[in-house]
Parts: sequence; C-alpha cells; structure tokens
Amino acid sequence: MPIGFELTAEQKELQALAAKFAKEEMAPRAAECDKKGLFPEDIYRRAWELGLMNLNVATEYGGSGLALLDQCIIAEELAAACGGMTTSILANCLALQPINLAGTPEQKERILKPFCADYHLASFGLTEPSGGSDAAALKTRAEKKGDHYVLNGQKCFITNAPQASLFTVFATLDPEKRDKGITAFIVPRDSPGLSIGKEEDKMGQRASSTATVIFEDVKVPEQNLLGKEGEGFRVGMMTLDSTRTPIGALACGIARAALDHAAKYSLERTSFGKPIAQHQAIAAKLANMAIELEASRLLTWRSAWLVDHGHRASLESSIAKCFSSDAAMRICDEAIQVFGGYGYMKDYPVEKYLRDAKLCQIYEGANEIQRQVIAREFLRRFA
Ligand SMILES: Cc1cc2nc3c(=O)[nH]c(=O)nc-3n(C[C@H](O)[C@H](O)[C@H](O)COP(=O)(O)OP(=O)(O)OC[C@H]3O[C@@H](n4cnc5c(N)ncnc54)[C@H](O)[C@@H]3O)c2cc1C
Repeated sequence: MPIGFELTAEQKELQALAAKFAKEEMAPRAAECDKKGLFPEDIYRRAWELGLMNLNVATEYGGSGLALLDQCIIAEELAAACGGMTTSILANCLALQPINLAGTPEQKERILKPFCADYHLASFGLTEPSGGSDAAALKTRAEKKGDHYVLNGQKCFITNAPQASLFTVFATLDPEKRDKGITAFIVPRDSPGLSIGKEEDKMGQRASSTATVIFEDVKVPEQNLLGKEGEGFRVGMMTLDSTRTPIGALACGIARAALDHAAKYSLERTSFGKPIAQHQAIAAKLANMAIELEASRLLTWRSAWLVDHGHRASLESSIAKCFSSDAAMRICDEAIQVFGGYGYMKDYPVEKYLRDAKLCQIYEGANEIQRQVIAREFLRRFA
C-alpha cells in the first residue's frame, strides 16, 4: 500500500502521551508564561523526562530516534497547548540536527550522548543582526590557528540561548566565498569568550527565550568542526529542510486550538435568539477554518512522509511550512472575530494564538524565502 492515513499503534501512543502532557502540564501554565514572559524550565525538563525532546537524535545516542512524521504528530499536540513552549522544546531538534547530519561517530559519542543523557538545551546559531534570509552573507568569522579555530561575531534571535549549554554555530572562513566559505562548529556554552547578550521581549511565543549570542575570540578545537571546512551552508540548509516541516505541524497545533475554542464559543454565545454558530456567516467561517486546518495537516504529514521514505522534500517542506503558517494566521484571526469583543481581550486565549502563530511565518526561513524555494523547485521541472 503506497500511502495511508491510519496512525500506527506506536504513533497513537506518542500522540496520546504528548496530548496528555500538553493538556495537563503545559496548558495550565500557558497564559501566565505568556503574560509574564516566563521560561518554564520545569516543563522543559519534564518534556525531556517523557522523551518529548531530542526527538530526532538516534536512540543509540540517547535521543528518541523518531521519524519526522512522529515529530510532527508530537509538535501539533504540544502546540495546541502553547506555541512558545513547543518552540523551546523543538529547538533542541533544530540545534542537534547539524550533528545528526554531519557529525562523526566520535562527535556523536562525545557530544550527543552526554547531552541527551540529562536535561540540556541547545541552540542553533545561524541568524545575525545584519540579516537572516541571506544566510550566505553571514559575517561571523572563523580563523584557523594551529589545531583550533577562533570565532568572532554575533548571532541574534537565537532560541533558548540564555539557557543553552551547547550551540551549533555557522561562521565564515572567507566572506568573499559566500556559501562556500561557511563552516559549522559545535560550541559549548562554557567556551571562554562566548556570552549571551540582549534577551528579546517578544510579541508572542513568550514562554520561549530568544537572545543574542556574542563570540569574542572563542577558541573551538578542530574536533568540534562539523563536516569539512566550507560545508556549513549545505549542513545548515539540509537541517532547515528537515526541521521546517515540524514548524508546519506547530502552526497546525496553534490553529487547531483556535478553531476548537471558536467552535465551542459559537455554540454557547447567542445573538438574535440563537447560537451564533447558526448564523450562516459564522458557520462559513468555521467551515473555512476547518478546511484550512485539514489542508495544512495533510501537507505537513505528506512532507514528513516523503522525508521518512528517503525522498528529497525541499519543495514539499516549504509548501507545508508556508501554507500552514499562513493558514494559522487566517484561522486565528477568524477565531478572534468569532469571539467578537471578547476575542480582543487577554482574558480569552484566542488573541495569544494569533501572536504565537505569527512567528511561524518568520522563523526557519521567512515565508517570502519559502516562496522563492517553491518557485525555484517548481520551475526546475520546466527548465
Ligand atoms: C522568535 C524568533 C526565534 C528565532 N530563532 C532562531 C534560532 O534559534 N536560530 C537562528 O539562527 N535564527 C532564529 N531566528 C531568526 C529567523 O530565522 C530570522 O528572523 C528569519 O530567517 C528572517 O531573517 P531576518 O529577521 O534577518 O529578516 P531579513 O532577512 O532582514 O528579511 C526582512 C524581510 O524581507 C524579506 N526578504 C528578505 N530577502 C528577501 C528576498 N530575497 N525576497 C523577498 N523577500 C525577502 C523577508 O522575508 C522578511 O519579510 C528566530 C527569529 C525569531 C523572531
């Protein structure tokens, strides 16, 4: 059978585990963390205890060793409770994927194993203050000096940076070479010269931390070079190719929560003598929201399925991330509309969903860049 939509018993178990954790432990804290910008480290530790972190690291190195579709199933469940917490939980997958892809067995044994054996956070350092979309133009310098490299520069908007004990970092050996000069490194937090700068005060996803990372003459031993010199851009892009799809799933989770709240409210709230759900304009909104959510999930799961079956999925992962995050914005917007004035108030959860969903259109490659990828991949068929 080439394709099917029935989850396996293991996938249903994972889904139930993530849904229970999300409902019982994440959701009750979501509003407070959002309001106060708290970073609920106990929840992240609990996610690690349950095997809901380090999802993409092989079990032999202490990760959960899950397929991409399984990661998407988990991401949707968690994000239905809190998008920000989910971003912080998934950030380890993003940060560790370069090691999964380009790390040697020795590096995986030395770095991934102790990292995954306890609760730790890692960060992925690609974006810089001068620009994120044009990653080939990054400015952080790496200079080879004997048996080590010296890093100088700054990374910005780095998820979990204040709490991370490990960073995967992209720096250039020669800016003139653009993508061909970029090299990836594994950098422990306690490396002298590495410091954390400004922590951002964000519009949404406020349970996740975001900060600048500064490198001042940071010595990185040769053993922490990821892949070969000049391979970093490829490693970074391959990483994002696989972590983009779970962002589509994260957007589905936020959108699902918004739709569920809107549907329930529409059955309770009355106007002109009947529940607002019985007004055609509201029913049509709910129908459109359901259509967009269903399409988002199908695109996301198909993209994950392709990767899990060994296919290249640059086009499909960009489509999934782009469509799902745009759809999540429309769904959350309509959820606020269904709630009327109450939707605009912080006492109700729907305005948070809109703020949280917005980030999905920006990070891991802004949707404008996804559309470039989609057009390029698609046009290739006609060249
Ligand atoms: C909360 C948060 C967490 C993040 N976490 C991380 C992280 O953990 N690690 C990390 O490395 N990065 C992270 N990022 C960075 C994120 O990936 C970048 O913000 C994103 O890639 C866009 O880069 P930029 O912000 O520099 O925007 P710019 O590149 O300056 O772009 C600005 C605008 O111009 C558009 N644009 C740029 N070039 C083109 C073009 N050629 N055609 C059409 N439109 C274009 C963009 O789409 C965008 O709308 C995070 C960002 C945020 C906000």
